[in-house]
Amino acid sequence: MQWYLFAGLAMVASAVLPVHAQTWTKQPFDDKFRQLEEILPTPNDYRTGSGAPGHKYWQQQADYTIQVKLDEEEKRVTGSETITYTNNSPDRLSYLWLQLDQNRFDKNSDYNLSMRAQTRYVLKPSNAGDKQSLKDFRGRTSRQNFEGGYQISNLKGANGKPLRHIINKTMMRIDLDQPLLPGQQFSFSLDWEYNMVEAKTHGGRGGYECFEKDGNCIFLVAQWFPRMAVYDDVNGWQNKQFLGRGEFSLEFGNYEISYDVPADHIVASTGTLVNPEQVLSGPQQDRLKRAETAKKPVMIVTEKEARANEEDDTSKRKVWTFKADNVRDVAWASSRKFLWDAWGVKSGDNTVLAMSYYPQEGNPLWERYSTQAIAHTIEQYNKYSFDYPYPVAISVNGPVGGMEYPMMTFNGPRPEIDKEDESKRTYSRRTKYGLISVIIHEIGHIYFPMIVNSDERQWTWMDEGLNTYLQFLAEQAWEENYPSRRGEPRKIIDYMVSAKQVPIMTNSESILQFGNNAYGKPATALNILRETIMGRELFDYAFREYSQRWKFKRPMPADFFRTMEDASAVDLDWFWRGWFYSTDHVDISIDDVRIMQVNTDDPEIEAEWKRERHEAAPRSLTEQRNEELHRRVDDYSELKDFYNEHDEFTVSPKSTKDAEGKLKPYEEWERELLETEGNFYLLDFSNVGGLVMPIILAIEYDNGDVEELRIPAEVWRQDPKQASIQLWREEVITQVTVDPHWETADADISNNFFPRKILPSRLELFKDKKKRNLMKEMQSEE
Ligand SMILES: [Zn+2]
Repeated sequence: MQWYLFAGLAMVASAVLPVHAQTWTKQPFDDKFRQLEEILPTPNDYRTGSGAPGHKYWQQQADYTIQVKLDEEEKRVTGSETITYTNNSPDRLSYLWLQLDQNRFDKNSDYNLSMRAQTRYVLKPSNAGDKQSLKDFRGRTSRQNFEGGYQISNLKGANGKPLRHIINKTMMRIDLDQPLLPGQQFSFSLDWEYNMVEAKTHGGRGGYECFEKDGNCIFLVAQWFPRMAVYDDVNGWQNKQFLGRGEFSLEFGNYEISYDVPADHIVASTGTLVNPEQVLSGPQQDRLKRAETAKKPVMIVTEKEARANEEDDTSKRKVWTFKADNVRDVAWASSRKFLWDAWGVKSGDNTVLAMSYYPQEGNPLWERYSTQAIAHTIEQYNKYSFDYPYPVAISVNGPVGGMEYPMMTFNGPRPEIDKEDESKRTYSRRTKYGLISVIIHEIGHIYFPMIVNSDERQWTWMDEGLNTYLQFLAEQAWEENYPSRRGEPRKIIDYMVSAKQVPIMTNSESILQFGNNAYGKPATALNILRETIMGRELFDYAFREYSQRWKFKRPMPADFFRTMEDASAVDLDWFWRGWFYSTDHVDISIDDVRIMQVNTDDPEIEAEWKRERHEAAPRSLTEQRNEELHRRVDDYSELKDFYNEHDEFTVSPKSTKDAEGKLKPYEEWERELLETEGNFYLLDFSNVGGLVMPIILAIEYDNGDVEELRIPAEVWRQDPKQASIQLWREEVITQVTVDPHWETADADISNNFFPRKILPSRLELFKDKKKRNLMKEMQSEE
């Protein structure tokens, strides 16, 4: 810290100018606070400027009746469906679009053909040749040989007449003989079949997994039937082709599904089981009833029963029937390996059956954590959004790492089983928390986007980001020091400063660094918004308002941005601009702190002050070395006169009089101010990262006090690169620290201290690699 004299109160205005040259707005100016309304869509009767659905909001409805058969030997799914489509739009529709997601697995799909190779130019340019992991190689080769995609037949209207249609890759258009008018319904049916992918080989969000030991398989069936594409007020038909990443854009509707599976299979599905008496044993039906009011999860299918099913070799079949209302999709799972537990969990006035299905290979992890994690998610997410509205919430263990559907999730982690002794089972810390976290995450998706029905094909962050944010809150409510991967600001820093990135507001298919961009960054941004920018009370209210406004509806990004402002009176346009529309990062540097006291204009005081400064200044080398120097005036004292007695700091009656004269026009209050005691500080900051954020300061004083000062981001509004603030304090500041709690994701903390601090670190030493000595190698061979 440097000491300055603050040159009189009349100079305040110029004194607060930073030492750096001020950049005025006539030069190119980057307005980080420019309002977003010129970027956001114009509000209308469907979506208001407040971010709420408008008074003419509408959405389409698609109801389905499906019969499906699982061919276990051939790993093939065959189905028939009837779709009843209701046109709630104000528009006449002359055609309908359906999504054929299985066509993604056609070997000539755009997904396969446009998949970028991981060449050495992507990974690491060198002449060493290309590299690929065995797993990646397996996936890429088998995708190019697989007979995937739908075979569709028998497409006809309710009158039995075939319907004209065209299949364009993952989309199918049905041409209507007559336009479907507003308010009208149209029913049609079709048959289809396809080969299931082996999940581990192909990736994807469903598929089968077979166990070497007993030959039994788990079938996870998703994106399995032709589904209505979305028609909405923003995009018209959302028929952007499925390239693998941009997930699903779907309409709500009611479903009746019957699953024809081997008789010893257990089926888990979105919806309520309609015919338990036909598919479950008497004791199993009793247990299911008892589970609703039990104090802890109840086994519906025990390990013993599952092991018996595994040994069974039946050719008989059973049909499981389910009903699901107001869902945007249905997924299911089927296996004779499944154990099944269930537990009734309160959600508002409803009881939700939290249920888990897993092979015995999932234990001891699954019986202990899965259903508890479902219950925990519902309890926590209800607090921040709305009460879970569906009758069941399911977690199924299988080959898919983590995937969500309405009421239904697939979750991957399992313990490690000793090859010699099956009873010896261990799991890593990562696997344990990985399982709890993935269940929280996927069950959380039932809220976002299964209920708050955002357009995943367009915006991955709207479900992944919001959900990952709530996942973090739920994880932290599980146990102390829960090892959350995402949410804490300091964890996003490496990504924020990384080179290859795009803004969060980027279409799902074009995102670079997918997990960080669409999950980690928005989740962290929301956590920062809650803790640092808005505060918990304002944020939670606004977030809940957004969730309530848009449950069972289709929000767009602007609806989220607008609602968060509208419900809180916090201008967040700068925040959305910085975090969602740019790739800037946070790095605020404290460059200088100066301390001053008021110039009293009292000649006695000021001369004394100047003399003290003069005496405190270091003596020049010449002065030091001349200390013993013999001077002429020492020999001839007559050379000394008045000026040898009075130095330049001497106060004369004239200077006192002048000072009084200067003060004459001053009013009483002005004179009083000149006697103000205490310290005036100027603090200079620069914004190195580009992202404007509040400046959070811990100010330490010489009496040991620490003051926390939170300067709003608006301090940057007239200059996004440089800001200075002034403080008046009695005490003497000894240290100023920016972002003392690491709450803003400030990337470089070395410039967060004034005075600068030497930060401890480690120097890693390593041994040079030995050069090959062929002669020695040959000699050591016998
Ligand atoms: Zn997710």
